[in-house]
Amino acid sequence: MVGWFAMIYGDQGSGRLTRRSLLRAAGLAGAAGMAMLPIAASGSLAPASGTGFVGYAIDLATLQPVAGAVVRVDPIGATTTTDGRGAYVVAVPPGTYTVRVLHPDFVGVIRLKQVVGSAGYTSLDLDLVPRSPSLEQQKLLYQRMVSQTAAPLPEPDALTARALTTAATSLPSQIKVVYPDGSSQWVPLEDYVKGVVPNEVPPSWPAAALQAQAVAARTYGVARFLAYGYICTTSACQVYDPTNRWPSTDAAVDATAGQVLTANGSIIWAFFFSRCNGVSTRNSEDAIAYSGITAQGQYICTTAGWNYVSYCRARSCSWNAASTLSTCGYYGHGVGMCQWGAYGQSQNGRAYANILSSYYTGVTLTGAVLRLLGPFVVQAGQPFTLSWTSVGSGVTYTSTISGSGFTETFQTSGTTWTIDGYTYPLPPIGVYTWTVAAQTGATASATLAVAEKVFTQDLPLVGG
Ligand SMILES: [Zn+2]
Repeated sequence: MVGWFAMIYGDQGSGRLTRRSLLRAAGLAGAAGMAMLPIAASGSLAPASGTGFVGYAIDLATLQPVAGAVVRVDPIGATTTTDGRGAYVVAVPPGTYTVRVLHPDFVGVIRLKQVVGSAGYTSLDLDLVPRSPSLEQQKLLYQRMVSQTAAPLPEPDALTARALTTAATSLPSQIKVVYPDGSSQWVPLEDYVKGVVPNEVPPSWPAAALQAQAVAARTYGVARFLAYGYICTTSACQVYDPTNRWPSTDAAVDATAGQVLTANGSIIWAFFFSRCNGVSTRNSEDAIAYSGITAQGQYICTTAGWNYVSYCRARSCSWNAASTLSTCGYYGHGVGMCQWGAYGQSQNGRAYANILSSYYTGVTLTGAVLRLLGPFVVQAGQPFTLSWTSVGSGVTYTSTISGSGFTETFQTSGTTWTIDGYTYPLPPIGVYTWTVAAQTGATASATLAVAEKVFTQDLPLVGG
């Protein structure tokens, strides 16, 4: 079943541009009408001797080099700034590093586990994503960044099952991933999801769309793992790359930690795909396959023949125009969540839970983990706002600060509590226990310190 998708989408080595090769192909894009600066191979930037990283920072939306980006190599903290050509050189000894890039106009980038060998400089080009891309740029970013636009696909034997069900509702804390070379690794569930989401949607998308994708990817990953005992890391399952991490997609995973979709008490196979025809998604049994390609390069639609899946029904999806990539307007199998529809809904201000329930029929968002977001240290005499994660819409929370002879309690259906000194008294200098209990039974507590003076400093770049 995977074969025709790999063939159609060319995402298994048959010519799809990877992010790395994209930069090499930048001249090609210039020939197609985009104003391009000539970018020399980054190897030519390398000093004659020594070791370290060398490369260019590139705006992935315009394919232009980016000057003035701060490049920091941890754990040793070597730092430099890209020059007027967008180039940088950082000398570090051989080893494995985390490379971070910061520029005010671009989303901060973290590249984990980057290796410098002993033979000289390692070429590492750094793709940057604008903080506020236009819709046109978002389309280019999706094309350039998303490694998997058509999946996940059902397993062949799952396709023949009457209903796709895992008969499970509890989440594993770790899941086993199997790499293409056959090696395997146990990965904490939330780390796994963080390594999947940026391969599915660009990190420049609005938070609600990223959160919807995070829940869908977590749900699909868990269902696949529970059914087979492992999950592969390629587009045959869903692409997992532990080195491709972004602050925005990490934040979307954190904001939805532990949340999965269930139907009839079971974790669902949360299928998703790139875009529908701007009218509706499809019933599972009407899933799309392709039977060929027209002279104009459009894929010819046929039926994939999936079986009936109760939570994958045709649902209205009017937020984006039809894809021109196929004769029927769909790009991908058409079943489950439409990613570009989710993008459109998020642009219209819809929350991730509403986006998800608009694509999956009769599902429940479950397993939300209540986490306290802080602050955990505040300055005496100054108002402050406590906040925590939501465990569902319409849930009420009881938040309590107690200790040092002080107790204050607040009930809310929101996820913040402002202690302003008027409505709620400011706690004096001391150490307190801050507890939040949700109506659902979830609780969390932390230490809240009220200090005479709080020193702030510039926060390090996100991640690590
Ligand atoms: Zn759609």
